[in-house]
Amino acid sequence: MKIDGFRGRLITADHADYDTARAVWNGAVDRRPRLIARCLDTADAAAAVRFARDHDLEIAVRGGGHNVAGTAVCDDGIVIDLSAMRAVSVDPADRTARVQGGALWADVDHETQAHGLATTGGIVSHTGVAGLTLGGGIGFLMRKHGLAVDNLLTAEAVTADGSILRASADDHPDLYWALRGGGGNFGIVTLFRFALHPVGPTVLAGPVFWAADDTADVLRFYRDFAAAAPDELGTVVRLGTVPPLPVIPEELHWRPAVAVVCCYAGPIADGERAVEALRRLGRPLVDLLAPKPYSAHQSATDDTTPHGWHYYWKSTDLADLSDDTISVIAEHAYRAGSPRSYAVMFHMGGAVGRVAHTATAYAGRDVAHNINIDAVWLPGESGEHAAAETAWARRFLDVLQPHRANSVYVNFLDSDDGTSRVREAYGEHIYQRLAEVKAKYDPGNTFQHNKNIHPG
Ligand SMILES: Cc1cc2nc3c(=O)[nH]c(=O)nc-3n(C[C@H](O)[C@H](O)[C@H](O)COP(=O)(O)OP(=O)(O)OC[C@H]3O[C@@H](n4cnc5c(N)ncnc54)[C@H](O)[C@@H]3O)c2cc1C
Repeated sequence: MKIDGFRGRLITADHADYDTARAVWNGAVDRRPRLIARCLDTADAAAAVRFARDHDLEIAVRGGGHNVAGTAVCDDGIVIDLSAMRAVSVDPADRTARVQGGALWADVDHETQAHGLATTGGIVSHTGVAGLTLGGGIGFLMRKHGLAVDNLLTAEAVTADGSILRASADDHPDLYWALRGGGGNFGIVTLFRFALHPVGPTVLAGPVFWAADDTADVLRFYRDFAAAAPDELGTVVRLGTVPPLPVIPEELHWRPAVAVVCCYAGPIADGERAVEALRRLGRPLVDLLAPKPYSAHQSATDDTTPHGWHYYWKSTDLADLSDDTISVIAEHAYRAGSPRSYAVMFHMGGAVGRVAHTATAYAGRDVAHNINIDAVWLPGESGEHAAAETAWARRFLDVLQPHRANSVYVNFLDSDDGTSRVREAYGEHIYQRLAEVKAKYDPGNTFQHNKNIHPG
């Protein structure tokens, strides 16, 4: 097999590493593409798009391979795989970073933190920059520095006809708007340029854990604590069991618990003041909030969601954290059968909510909290086990129905979340505008192996 103008690696079913190359983060995804085109550069990606078009092949695009729905890999078609394109270069003078389309957040943090700089990324460092950014990009720094898309200055994209376009406020502004939240619908982004901000390199960060029985009390306190928190304080609530990490005393491992994970993007002393009341709440099982390198914090829980385990997600934005919502969460969060299943809630707001609703294609700017319910089971565990975990996640979402906002973060949608949930992620107005941009740049829906926007 040969692709004209392609200098990367072509992997087909007869290659020894085909199975490794087609595997994505979610081990429950098992698809067999006809061809994996592992690109070395933008020209390779353009050549692969033209080849796919000429041979009528369905295209899947792989950045970090982390999407839970496994959209980075397809059956029969071609995977345009950017995983060998992970370079990051920082310009400390103008505080920007150029990041290739297959980079992981660990790559970005590594290079930017060498200059004491950072930009908003995800909370697990082996997640891909591309998919996360194109859906919006939420993380610990967002309340201070905005979403990943709010820091995206330019993107270089290979569009459906194989053209290479630059999207920015001045170049193809409609494409630039759509790329900031509209996912992989508009082209293959081979290069991102992000704004950076001084962060750390030492920050006050880490989790405080309480016993699961204290969940309702912790969440009622947290609701008010988070509402009054300065923008510098990013928090994520984790409900599940205490993960068996070496930094946590062994006797606590796997114990049902609620954690508030913090990261203060400012001076340590200010951070100490900002988290003081939280640390005094009730009787924590363990308090791991301490000054540490920002990049260490960003990778601290990497081992709790490894590649190859089986995952199934259900998610929604929450209307509020009323006492009733909290009761439902406290009642259902710990009903999973597996000690590896958990739920996470991101506290939004701050800089995210100060950007105009239609300035980018990311729709959830007025939401205060979301919840992502993550069912997890091991590759060797039975179908019955998998069914029980997925049933838990579905039931948990069902009982949250009266407490849901009419929105969901597109990057948390799974493979059984269809068109109606994609529309829910954007709302009618933004979805319609995305459909118009799609009709201009990808009228034939070449990029459809994703949370699809139909050309309209
Ligand atoms: C463990 C874990 C933690 C997470 N934490 C966060 C978090 O803190 N914040 C957050 O916002 N999200 C988070 N997510 C969700 C994450 O944003 C999505 O899973 C996202 O799709 C991952 O990006 P990726 O590049 O790894 O995805 P992939 O699986 O590689 O790609 C997913 C889709 O994105 C598109 N895509 C990928 N690369 C490109 C490209 N270069 N050009 C154009 N389109 C492309 C394609 O449509 C593709 O189907 C997390 C996910 C996991 C698994």
